[in-house]
Amino acid sequence: MSSKKLKDFEEQIRQCVKCGTCQAYCPVFGEQKRESVVARGKIALAQALLDGDVELDRRFAGDMSQCLLCGSCVDKCPNLVPADEIVMAARREITEKHGPTSFGRSLSLALKNPSLMKWGARGASLFSPILFKKVPEGSGLRLRFPAPYVTRDRIIPEIASRPFRDRHPEFIPGEKDKPLVAFFTGCMIHFMYPQIGESVLAILRRMGMNIWIPSEQGCCGLPAISAGDGATVEELADRNLAAFEKREPDVILTACASCHAGMSRHFAEFGERQKELAKKVTDIHVFLEREGLIEELKNLPAKTDPVRVAYHDPCHLRTQGITKEPRALLRALPGVDYIEMEGADRCCGLGGTFSVYHYETSKKIGARKAPGIEASGAELVATACPGCMMQLQDIINQAGLPQKVVHILDLIAKELPEHS
Ligand code: SF4
Ligand code: SF4
Repeated sequence: MSSKKLKDFEEQIRQCVKCGTCQAYCPVFGEQKRESVVARGKIALAQALLDGDVELDRRFAGDMSQCLLCGSCVDKCPNLVPADEIVMAARREITEKHGPTSFGRSLSLALKNPSLMKWGARGASLFSPILFKKVPEGSGLRLRFPAPYVTRDRIIPEIASRPFRDRHPEFIPGEKDKPLVAFFTGCMIHFMYPQIGESVLAILRRMGMNIWIPSEQGCCGLPAISAGDGATVEELADRNLAAFEKREPDVILTACASCHAGMSRHFAEFGERQKELAKKVTDIHVFLEREGLIEELKNLPAKTDPVRVAYHDPCHLRTQGITKEPRALLRALPGVDYIEMEGADRCCGLGGTFSVYHYETSKKIGARKAPGIEASGAELVATACPGCMMQLQDIINQAGLPQKVVHILDLIAKELPEHS
């Protein structure tokens, strides 16, 4: 089964009543104030294309690229018009007609060839002292030399010398009566933030879970969706289907908000078997709450010097209604003094390929989070998505603020006693 065409959205496109409610919620419109970048404008463009009133040309492609696919407009739309999916379908049509951009081509090549990605990451890690400088110490890296698609003032995380899945066996047995949990690691945890994966394992082991990390899993497909590369998305969906059908896990856990969207929402579109597997995909914070970890955290010994922590809502969890569980976990940690910060639900501005093609706008959207972070007085900003972590640390460093960004799971793993 293949990805949906723009024509498949004809009915939903016609459901846009042009009310303009989406303007107030679109981060891109907030910066550019142009009708063509807001959901209403993009939907009108899609309609015009279907009616044959506009061409699938460079201008059309430019307007469709101005979307974070954050979904912020969708849940506020009175008719729930899926503007993000309409943009995704439009991007696929553009790529089908004109071929991928040079960045899209490199991205697909990497996503479809895990060994290439592994060697690329190994090379980057090996040459890291030559290619990057640490700025500020421990907060990430900045390129020393110009490189394609990465703006030089952008701060990026270090690349792991050994990817996460290479460090562990595929199966880690737990207690007999406990569920079999499959871990979908995603590319960012595998290559850039392996410590989040280590925290996942530490927590699940502590809970006695039987852990399965399928070695043949691939990317969730979201970067290719963002680039409009339908063929790569289909190939990755096939790979993940084959990888996760090898056993019958009770649940498939994600620790990355974007992977959660990719595997629970988009993967399901490819057929019945995918739909069945997608039903098992669960954000790990939701799982931990469901399994009673919050009570356990509350019973840990009190700490005399808790750290002030604020939370950032990743769009891909917020728009799925996952907002309470991450906060409840943070609030339950004795070592955390939780602060609700102003603008916690504001998009960080990353948006997959958006931040590559429109880094200046992405930076401006992100910069709107800085006053809330500063005013919170938090020492740490916790979140539930490695992509948001990368963007938030960049925002914080560019704003000259002292905060560090962490994944919630790292804070939990630090406080939970070791599994005996
Ligand atoms: S997309 Fe929804 S919110 Fe935006 S103009 Fe159309 S109907 Fe209104
Ligand atoms: S998905 Fe996000 S960036 Fe795209 S139109 Fe909707 S609110 Fe704007």
